[in-house]
Amino acid sequence: MSHQARDVFADALQRLDLAAKYAKVDPETLLRLRQPKQFLEVSIPVRLDNGSLRIFTGYRCKYDDTRGPAKGGIRFHQDVSASEVKALAFWMTFKCAVAGLPFGGGKGGVIVDPRELSMAELERLSRGYIRAIAWAIGTDVDVPAPDVNTNGLIMAWMADEYSNVVGRREPGVITGKPVAMGGSLGRDDATARGGFFILKELEARLGWERRKEPRRVAVQGFGNAGEHFAKLAHADGCQVVAVSDSNGGVYNPGGLDIASMIKADHKPGFVPDASVCGPGTRRISNAELLELEVDVLAPAAVENVITEENAARIKAQVVLELANGPVTVQADAILERRGVLVVPDILANSGGVTVSYFEWAQNKMGYYWTADEVRERLGQYMRREFNATYELAKANKIGMRMGAYAHALERLGPALESTGTARRYAKE
Ligand code: GLU
Repeated sequence: MSHQARDVFADALQRLDLAAKYAKVDPETLLRLRQPKQFLEVSIPVRLDNGSLRIFTGYRCKYDDTRGPAKGGIRFHQDVSASEVKALAFWMTFKCAVAGLPFGGGKGGVIVDPRELSMAELERLSRGYIRAIAWAIGTDVDVPAPDVNTNGLIMAWMADEYSNVVGRREPGVITGKPVAMGGSLGRDDATARGGFFILKELEARLGWERRKEPRRVAVQGFGNAGEHFAKLAHADGCQVVAVSDSNGGVYNPGGLDIASMIKADHKPGFVPDASVCGPGTRRISNAELLELEVDVLAPAAVENVITEENAARIKAQVVLELANGPVTVQADAILERRGVLVVPDILANSGGVTVSYFEWAQNKMGYYWTADEVRERLGQYMRREFNATYELAKANKIGMRMGAYAHALERLGPALESTGTARRYAKE
């Protein structure tokens, strides 16, 4: 089954219904959060290297912009759909609210398997996509960034194309740019580092700091989030026993030497062959990886990998969602019953958009920070919001997912209500 054969957006809205119980928000606010403010579908004609023309379908969703310009990445994937883009934009709305950033939520995507395109075709597609949506984005309107299968180079093409369209440089229109083009130091590994800051806070809460045996970690996905997280965990002394990409992964019960696996000739996004990963390493499927006996499981790939089908077999103590939407609503209930602590995507992977915010702020100021300043401030944001969510969840005896949604609604509610609701009129 492709990762989003189910209606991801309908599933995402179920979480809103569940969370509404724990937050004091006006029913009209919840009603407004049930659909995107704007949704675009565009066609992108691209001349292929062989001379033929191919038309790609792209989307951009501005879900909500009450708390600030919409914000969210652009995904290139063969399984992209309108429902998925809406769900991802909905999650961005809640993510930016949880993280306390002055942004709403947005997301974009193009239906394409980028592995089938040459670099030149990929550049034409990236520029064509931005030309198609240029009128709907802007530094104070909607600010794209990288997501699955897009990166700094693609953001550079897109930011450049936007400048061509509007006739001026506007670096704050896109984040995740290369540093040479106005990107922020520390944006590269920000998603992983944010998740890692949370892991450290959690360790203190769970008393893991005192334990003698090493922390065992499995990471699904070796893209920007997964690879950097594996590296940070390994450097901190964790035993990273398994990592994977979309073709499967490698497993070593004694811990993989992540640092030496990521060599100079390393192909980004792909796990090296088991034969070069040291003695005792064997191949493992993605399904097996998820069910390993570990302390921390970090799904860092795509949606819906932990479902009602495998949730009962998840043996991790903590699931740190570095991907967006890796656990289904049905699986949530099973994991909670079994005492698995799930740190939800909208909190666990918010480090990426937090440093995107720093990049946007630096672009607006035209004044740039050092890597240490970026890391330090990222740490402040992650610790502050993790602890607020943890306390809120504990006080209400709910899981961290509902805690995070309730925390986000505490910020979204007053913002939306101040733009006008029945409750406000009733008070007059
Ligand atoms: N695509 C990332 C996410 O899902 C980053 C978004 C951004 O930086 O705007 O959070």
